[in-house]
Amino acid sequence: MVPVPTPETKPFWQGTREGLLRLQRCDACAHVYFPPRPFCPRCAGRAVTWFTASGRGSLYSYVIHHRPAPGFEPPYSIAVVELEEGPRLMTNIVECPQTPEALQLDMPVEVVFRTLTDEIALPLFRPAQTAVEVNP
Ligand SMILES: [Zn+2]
Repeated sequence: MVPVPTPETKPFWQGTREGLLRLQRCDACAHVYFPPRPFCPRCAGRAVTWFTASGRGSLYSYVIHHRPAPGFEPPYSIAVVELEEGPRLMTNIVECPQTPEALQLDMPVEVVFRTLTDEIALPLFRPAQTAVEVNP
């Protein structure tokens, strides 16, 4: 269940360990994509640059699972989050009841990182903490 970094994904996992969500952008056509690969999936350009994404996105789709899985207390959601920068990634929604009432499609979410091993911290998403408390 623990992802194994490859040469292509190593910078991504290096980022998550430091609390950064990193994506690649094509230097030629500016396409932003995920998962990491050494060339642009749109134009096949090989000049691509890593950058740190905002960590914000919206809930694109999800499934709620009710059976136990290693590392997961049921019920838990397997979700697809569409990042502000465009790419979609498979993840879990946390800090939120795992119900259709709480998991609203298109709701704003933000990244949080859960450390699994010395090498791997998983990017998970929680409902965006929109309201900022202002003390009078
Ligand atoms: Zn491109």
